[in-house]
Amino acid sequence: MTEVRVRFAPSPTGMFHVGGARTALFNWALAEQSGGRFVLRIEDTDASRNRPEWIEGIISALDWVGINGSNEVFEGPYFQSAYEPQHREAVAKLLADGRAYYCDCTRELLVARTGSEHRGYDGFCRDRGLTEGAVRFRTPDEGVTVVHDVVRGTVEFPNDAQEDFVIARTDGSPLYVLANAVDDITQNITHVIRGEEHLGNAAKQMLLWPALGATPPIWGHLPVIVNEQRKKLSKRRDKVALESYREEGYLAEAMVNYLMLLGWGPGDDREIMPWSEMVPLFKVEDVNSASAFFDEKKLRAFNGEYIRALPLETFEERCLPYLDPSWDRELFSKVAALAQTRIGVLSEIRQNVDFLFLEEPAFDQASWDKAMKNSPVEIITGYLARLDTVSWDPESLKQALEEVGTAQGLKLGKAQAPVRVAITGRTVGLPLFESIEVLGRVRTQERLRAALARLEG
Ligand code: GLU
Repeated sequence: MTEVRVRFAPSPTGMFHVGGARTALFNWALAEQSGGRFVLRIEDTDASRNRPEWIEGIISALDWVGINGSNEVFEGPYFQSAYEPQHREAVAKLLADGRAYYCDCTRELLVARTGSEHRGYDGFCRDRGLTEGAVRFRTPDEGVTVVHDVVRGTVEFPNDAQEDFVIARTDGSPLYVLANAVDDITQNITHVIRGEEHLGNAAKQMLLWPALGATPPIWGHLPVIVNEQRKKLSKRRDKVALESYREEGYLAEAMVNYLMLLGWGPGDDREIMPWSEMVPLFKVEDVNSASAFFDEKKLRAFNGEYIRALPLETFEERCLPYLDPSWDRELFSKVAALAQTRIGVLSEIRQNVDFLFLEEPAFDQASWDKAMKNSPVEIITGYLARLDTVSWDPESLKQALEEVGTAQGLKLGKAQAPVRVAITGRTVGLPLFESIEVLGRVRTQERLRAALARLEG
């Protein structure tokens, strides 16, 4: 059996998209499960849109999701621009074989002849024997071009609807559709698994491959990814950059798991599944052709699960980039376990624990106003009076506040609100009495007194 050789061929024209990551992972799974090869090819021929930082971005994003040269399955990166001689050679071969011809028709001429802006090329130059101009591929006049697609089934393209498409510009530079096919042939690619938007290219490439003497690959066009409004995920409307998720504190493991489920599933009810278990189960034939909904809420829930599954020490380390370096690590360790069960993304750690490290809690006026509604002065004064002598453990601290609340006719939930905001600056956060325990008697008292002064001032 021939070795499976898949490729991932991003164009470095922007931030690396979650859809690209999904395509890369599907290919990576195929290569890994078969002991084949995953070729990374940077399609950088559109010099006007490429930027070196986008290339860096692709490589580091892939690395983050586990696609890198530390696995021998990985090959590359290759750069499409380095293969221009091969692209030009292919054009020359097609011309020499009579499979392509020169054309000097301008758009205006074509429109004038066909009487329409939308009609395809009419084949005018096919037999004119020109020796310069743009180069067009001679498509068959009759029959159908069939793309056997492992995801979408058999897709037929009637040949009379396929114009003689351009493969090289007048200046000789090859077009993308040709360069892409030539690279796949040169790199011995066996499976082309890519986004659905390239299905139309497959119809052309199905003609180019045999014309260049190669057997077409196995095609698989992956479903589009849509947002909540069922619109295609786009960088203008949606958060699509993998980098943003990474920065927000999504774990790579959770992201990988979630991306694998965009169009595919392991076939039972399990959704949370590590990469190593998914790899042997993945089948591109099982990918659903219906569009896949990128559900950020679900991703977040996944991430929360992955966060909770981390060993506490690892969790603490992963939180460090979101905390100030000057913040006391030991003090953080005292609340880390409480936070681990509550946050959905790592960046949320900061708002949960900053009260411990700041001189003064970070108040925002809205939270303050919301919390200081029911007898705040009485509650805080009453609680302060108990704090000198109360035993410093969560249960006793809770009981004391409960009693102070009862004296004001307030249930614990209501009585907690002013105390929580006075101490943490926020209306939600870690369990209050554990937080007070860690903050310590002196600092708690200081904060309650400061809040009183603020209420009375
Ligand atoms: N360079 C193309 C893109 O970024 C991918 C083409 C392909 O996979 O064949 O959309």
